[in-house]
Amino acid sequence: MDIEPITPSYHDLTATCAACQTLAPHSQLFVCLKEDCSYALQQKLPVLSPSLFYRREKVFCGACTFRGSHKAHRKYMQRAEPLAFQTASGEMGTKLQMEFDKFMKSGEETAVGFYMQENMDLKNLPPPRIVEYLTKSGTVMEWHRRVAVLNNALKTMSDFRDEGQKFVKEQAEELLTEFSKTSKQIRTILTITQPDMEQLREDRHETHLREMGIDPSAEDAHSSLSSMSSTSTKVSKKKTG
Ligand SMILES: [Zn+2]
Ligand SMILES: [Zn+2]
Repeated sequence: MDIEPITPSYHDLTATCAACQTLAPHSQLFVCLKEDCSYALQQKLPVLSPSLFYRREKVFCGACTFRGSHKAHRKYMQRAEPLAFQTASGEMGTKLQMEFDKFMKSGEETAVGFYMQENMDLKNLPPPRIVEYLTKSGTVMEWHRRVAVLNNALKTMSDFRDEGQKFVKEQAEELLTEFSKTSKQIRTILTITQPDMEQLREDRHETHLREMGIDPSAEDAHSSLSSMSSTSTKVSKKKTG
């Protein structure tokens, strides 16, 4: 694909006359539209910038068009510049338009695209008039600047999708981690057998007594805490064998 520089050089603003080889500014060149003329407009190769139009097509200077070798066809001659803008804007504009449309009509495979398709009213959004916007550029430089503006917008929209995708991925991973962590904790607690639990309670009770300054090995330790009335009541700490 031919990509034109954003700031065209002098070469990009001039072209050579097909008849006399004179170099002339784009605004002073003409094309022949007579059907059977071998120098007529071809429009067979892609023209993705106005400058490229002058390299793809045969153009004539004013002298050759009106007084020189091509004057026989002067009724069919048209200014090249508007045609160059129309052709390039039509081709480049259509390509860019399709890229813009993709953001509104597809992308369900991404999180942001899916959300947009499911929850937003995209049908009534006015599409940008890209071909017209490019066609109405005053100069080749302005045309390239406008193409750059559109490409930047496409890049920005694409970045929003990528960022959204990254964020959703991170959040999904966090969610899954929390889920399995909880699940694992529950499983660990449930795999402790019933006697183990009894032992665990016992140990905790003894630790508590020690912290209170009571010797858990003294047989009446438990009763001394639970009953104020009697020190003779003997309470077995172990309820099961
Ligand atoms: Zn000429
Ligand atoms: Zn002709």
